[in-house]
Amino acid sequence: MSAPPAATPKPVLPFLPFTRPTIDDETIAGVVEVLKSGWLTSGPQVKALEASLSEYCGGRPVRVFNSGTCTMEIALRIAGVGPGHEVITSPLSWVATSNVVLEVGARPVFVDIDPVTRNLDLARVEAAITPATRAIIPVDLAGLPVDRDRLHALAQKHRLRVVEDAAQAFGSTWQGRRIGAFGDFVSFSFHPNKNITTIEGGALVLNSEAEAKLAEQYRLQGVVRSGQDGMEVELVGGKFNLTDVAARVGLGQLPHLEEFTEKRRTLAREYFALLRAPELQRLGLRLPVPDFAQSNWHMFQVILPEERLGVKRADVMAEMHAAGIATGAHYPAIHLFALYRRQGWKPGDFPHAEYAGRNILTLPLFPAMTKDDVSHVVRALAAILSAHLQS
Ligand SMILES: *Cc1c(COP(=O)(O)O)cnc(C)c1O
Repeated sequence: MSAPPAATPKPVLPFLPFTRPTIDDETIAGVVEVLKSGWLTSGPQVKALEASLSEYCGGRPVRVFNSGTCTMEIALRIAGVGPGHEVITSPLSWVATSNVVLEVGARPVFVDIDPVTRNLDLARVEAAITPATRAIIPVDLAGLPVDRDRLHALAQKHRLRVVEDAAQAFGSTWQGRRIGAFGDFVSFSFHPNKNITTIEGGALVLNSEAEAKLAEQYRLQGVVRSGQDGMEVELVGGKFNLTDVAARVGLGQLPHLEEFTEKRRTLAREYFALLRAPELQRLGLRLPVPDFAQSNWHMFQVILPEERLGVKRADVMAEMHAAGIATGAHYPAIHLFALYRRQGWKPGDFPHAEYAGRNILTLPLFPAMTKDDVSHVVRALAAILSAHLQS
């Protein structure tokens, strides 16, 4: 067999990821400086990042960690949540949200989502509270904030702690106040897919210096140092500290937060403008809440019309991929994972979360995207769905 003829180069659209971090040259140069400095692990850059985040959060104590998962686990430990306790949370989230509850030995209690906001339905939370309930972990899916007034009123009424899983909500606001600047514990993630990154990492906003001191102990083997050589250990801590290299990335990201959020909002508006066109109405897509004041537009997610499509979400994703566009499925309903089914949850428990879990589709949205990219995505999606729509 002879070799195939050399393919004539044809112009192709570069593959569009569903997200991509934007890191400027100043940050890259800063990272090089840290690498040359001789101090790589937690040090001055971590302190500087904590100070900047604290300032952003209205002066509240903030500590940084190597993930936005251990932040929640540590918040639960500080709150004294453990065996015999229940924690109310959403079944439509990254599985970290409820895994941390199991990690501390407590039991997650799922409450279905509001199909419009896709966040924990606060109207259902009260009925799920029992004498064993200790905390609520609300999730701001895609950056859309859970109603903080209602949430905190509920928590206060029932004397519950709140660990906000604001992993996706850095840069979001509630009634003009920054998420993180008020409330109880607030957990952020700086995973590369989040609105700002430290490569991997997270931050926990706390209520007092005493809580911050405990967080530092849980962060690093329970160690407390004093004097020249003093060292004490009173609790079982882990290894959750952030490196100075990672912290320097975060320090270079923070000044861009507003600009990133603005860009995301502009692109989200473009999605709405195109997806609301009369000829696309018949596709039956469910759009997100058009909140341009408060959401940081961490993701732009549509929900596919399962009843009217002749194909599954995976097929739509494969056809989008073939058209040069990555999409995501954030997230499958948590209670249907094997680990959770083994503990008694089953299909039908949370119909809204299950429907979203099967049909939610994350479209590309990140600051370096253009409006042309958005129209490319919408055209491809409309063509694919039209081809599979059953009348
Ligand atoms: C990203 C994310 C987390 C976990 O963050 P990591 O930094 O990856 O540990 C938790 N909850 C939600 C909703 C997230 O999106």
